Amino acid sequence: MSANLTALAYLVASVLFIMALRGLSSPETARGGNVYGMIGMAIAVVTTVINPEVVSYGWILTALVIGGAIGAFIARRITMTDMPQLVAAFHSLVGLAAVLVAAGAYYNPTAYGIADAGGALKLASRIEMGIGVVIGAITFSGSIIAFGKLQGIVTGNPITFAGQHALNALFGAAIVVLVVLFTIQPDPQWFWAMTALAFVLGFLLIIPIGGADMPVIVSMLNSYSGWAAAGIGFTLENTALIITGALVGSSGAILSYIMCKAMNRSFISVLLGGFGGDAAASATRSDKPVKAGSADDAAFIMKNASSVIIVPGYGMAVAQAQHAVREMGDKLKKHGVKVTYAIHPVAGRMPGHMNVLLAEANVSYDEVFELEEINSNFANTDVAFVIGANDVTNPAAHEPGSPIAGMPILDVDRARTCLFVKRSLSPGYAGIDNALFYADNTMMLFADAKKMVEDIVKAL
Ligand code: NDP
Repeated sequence: MSANLTALAYLVASVLFIMALRGLSSPETARGGNVYGMIGMAIAVVTTVINPEVVSYGWILTALVIGGAIGAFIARRITMTDMPQLVAAFHSLVGLAAVLVAAGAYYNPTAYGIADAGGALKLASRIEMGIGVVIGAITFSGSIIAFGKLQGIVTGNPITFAGQHALNALFGAAIVVLVVLFTIQPDPQWFWAMTALAFVLGFLLIIPIGGADMPVIVSMLNSYSGWAAAGIGFTLENTALIITGALVGSSGAILSYIMCKAMNRSFISVLLGGFGGDAAASATRSDKPVKAGSADDAAFIMKNASSVIIVPGYGMAVAQAQHAVREMGDKLKKHGVKVTYAIHPVAGRMPGHMNVLLAEANVSYDEVFELEEINSNFANTDVAFVIGANDVTNPAAHEPGSPIAGMPILDVDRARTCLFVKRSLSPGYAGIDNALFYADNTMMLFADAKKMVEDIVKAL
């Protein structure tokens, strides 16, 4: 394939990636977006593989078969609720790949076409390699900690210690100095020292992040993984990889910004970390009694309501209750009840989690509203039906010092009656008790979300 044709194919692939991102910006067009992305990726991979510079097809095939088999196995087994962990694990692999490719290119610059006439690394490549390897290493270790926190292997509470920010700043400064030293004189000790320090910094940056701030961190690591891929693109002088990496990097950064806005956090304060510690640990459960009800009670209340707002959360995803919820909505509509859905931007465990589940259950898009569109409606609503959501409704967000302080919440308590479906009084991901469970207008429906909604459907 000629260089011109290769460039053209990469350009077509890049345009398809941009169309994919455009499609993914709305649930209605997301399927089409995915198809564009797949076609673009197929073109990029085929163009790369038929490049005459390929040295060994044997190695490529071996890697494809092993990686493809592992990927297919994981994709078949993974549940929707474990997606965020999987995404974090994938990000860590992108980071590690960036480090390994950089190391390969560092020890063999001529084969990678990044050597000068004397066989030494070109100056521009040293700069790209230094920055790429540092971002890759931070992404790798940071994503492993994020994976551990989401999987519950590492505590979701922030791990903090005295002098933490100063230590991070020291590591950051040392890494900058090492990148400069490597650029001036690319000796192996600088290469490995900056890589090792970046690994440690990735770890240090993520351990103080509290549960409630994890959404921002997941999207931020997504962004880092894009920049790490772009770094590999520069090292390999592959335009498709540079463009793809930059697209992932910038869209991840925009998503992080959106998530920060949704959580009412400044990006810097999330990065500096340390939210959710003492308050989460010391949260005490109220002694007030709670009102518990049955599926029959819930069916009776909702059937006689004129409007119901359904608020889904992580528990709906765990129970896979979305189809039953849609069925319940349909039944209520038949009784003349106005049914809408309210989605909090960080509900569930990944951005868009609830939108995906409701779309899967064929809930009509015009019944689904984002927080700022629907929040004022709770005051004029008969029933807020909260299913497996907790933190996103927790009024503790109004208390300064709380781990979720400042986060906008869905004002479900403003509805005339608030029904909470969950299995117990346990707190949500941020680890704090929810005073709404004890409110006068709340009725708790203790059960698995799917079982409870199926029973309500029967009762209706
Ligand atoms: P929460 O984690 O606050 O609460 C979920 C509730 O669901 C739990 O209290 C649990 O209570 C209940 N639950 C679990 N399983 C079931 C089940 N089978 N049936 C019924 N109920 C069940 O979820 P929210 O969606 O309200 O909030 C999301 C939280 O996750 C926020 O703190 C957010 O910051 C964080 N987060 C979000 C990410 C994102 O990108 N969206 C990423 C990472 C974290 P019980 O055990 O009593 O049943």
